[in-house]
Amino acid sequence: MRGANGLTGDDPVVVVGGGVVGLCTAYYLARAGLPVEVVERRGLASGASRGNAGWVCLSHSTPVPAPGVVRYALRSLGRPDSPLYLRPLPDPAFVRWLWRFWRSSTPAAFRRGYAAIAELNRDTFDLFDELRAAGVDTTLTRPGMVHAFLSATEARHHLAVQREMADGRYPMPDDVVTGDEARLLDDALSAQVRAAYLVEGEGVVDPEAFGRGLGEALAASGVKVHENTEVDGFRTAAGRVTALRTGHGEIACSAVVIAAGMRSAGLLGSLGRPLPLQAGKGYSFSVDLDPAPRHTLYFGERRAVASPIAGTTRIAGTMELSGNNNRLDWRRIVAVALASRHYLGRWFDDPDDLVGQIRDPWVGGRPFLPDGLPVVDRVPGYDNAFAATGHGMLGVTLGPVTGHRLSEYVRTGRRPDDLAPFRFDRRGQ
Ligand SMILES: Cc1cc2nc3c(=O)[nH]c(=O)nc-3n(C[C@H](O)[C@H](O)[C@H](O)COP(=O)(O)OP(=O)(O)OC[C@H]3O[C@@H](n4cnc5c(N)ncnc54)[C@H](O)[C@@H]3O)c2cc1C
Repeated sequence: MRGANGLTGDDPVVVVGGGVVGLCTAYYLARAGLPVEVVERRGLASGASRGNAGWVCLSHSTPVPAPGVVRYALRSLGRPDSPLYLRPLPDPAFVRWLWRFWRSSTPAAFRRGYAAIAELNRDTFDLFDELRAAGVDTTLTRPGMVHAFLSATEARHHLAVQREMADGRYPMPDDVVTGDEARLLDDALSAQVRAAYLVEGEGVVDPEAFGRGLGEALAASGVKVHENTEVDGFRTAAGRVTALRTGHGEIACSAVVIAAGMRSAGLLGSLGRPLPLQAGKGYSFSVDLDPAPRHTLYFGERRAVASPIAGTTRIAGTMELSGNNNRLDWRRIVAVALASRHYLGRWFDDPDDLVGQIRDPWVGGRPFLPDGLPVVDRVPGYDNAFAATGHGMLGVTLGPVTGHRLSEYVRTGRRPDDLAPFRFDRRGQ
């Protein structure tokens, strides 16, 4: 007998999905002494967890549905160079999703969502420290985040919103630095930057290396990882999942955690409990800049970002709602590159030169629920099936705390209080 949740017998808890959320969950389950297996359809950290911007941050933990965001999205219709790009799809599920997204964009819903994430985020940096102390190569550094703007008015507005949201939970600067001094906050900033502020202590990881580090820690603690193995269904009996079906045969389980990113929707659908997930596609690439940014950078008006990762600069951005696919639209890479030039200077002349200048152009689907919050909960109707998905823009930041809390829930059968806002059946889904 292993606790109050009926995890009897020798069958493992099986985590579906070897992204940052699944790997962190597997890590904490194994640390609690449970037998654990991970099933991943490709390689570890090969989905959205690979080419992202690697931010581990408190000040940018807002849910995407925010006051004004729908108007902003509608203005982007047919404009693939817009930071938020909506391609209308003749799909009733997509229209329903947009409707719910719009309903979640009220100031009250935004505040509630932000407060819930901020509460969950309280332990984030402590958990990263613990992981490192336990020998996991997290790659986390905390250079701080510079928010850069072309206009002081925009910068002040942004800081005011962020200060209000922080509500004293973490330190925010009192004011913005303006004029020629703004660009002194990071050597990589261009003269076009007219206002900026630094949020100290914000972090960044190399997400691929972090995934590798977690994979090594799992291997060291005896967790079996099935790569190149796709789960395509479940065997169930009396409200329990007893086995997972894969192309290589069945895997018996005492419990299952579905952490399959975008593809969680289909797996949960096969349990009769689909979630309305949409891919919020984002793009990134790497480039060697001189000088290279020392901090993580947020390019305010253009909503693009840059991160110092693995000795180079990763530039990332865009939120594209164009269906659940991983098709890379080169125009979006060009749009992100052009956006960054306002803040980083003219690091290329002609978009046609980008092909030779950048490395590793990448697209990833952020798993998004219409209210912008993840689901971290037991799957209704099943005693031993859990879901951890929908982390949107925050999977790297929230990975460790998600895994930590969910492993407690799986072990004890009791939902930790700070997971209450991330229930499966909440309003807005
Ligand atoms: C451009 C961009 C920048 C971003 N920047 C940041 C950032 O700076 N900070 C941050 O916190 N977040 C960031 N994110 C978001 C972050 O990348 C995601 O929230 C996070 O990676 C989601 O992790 P996941 O484990 O849920 O999903 P994934 O990483 O997609 O992992 C799911 C895994 O499940 C596997 N899988 C799917 N179906 C099956 C199946 N049937 N059987 C077996 N395996 C299956 C997939 O192959 C995949 O490896 C960014 C995202 C993008 C696109």
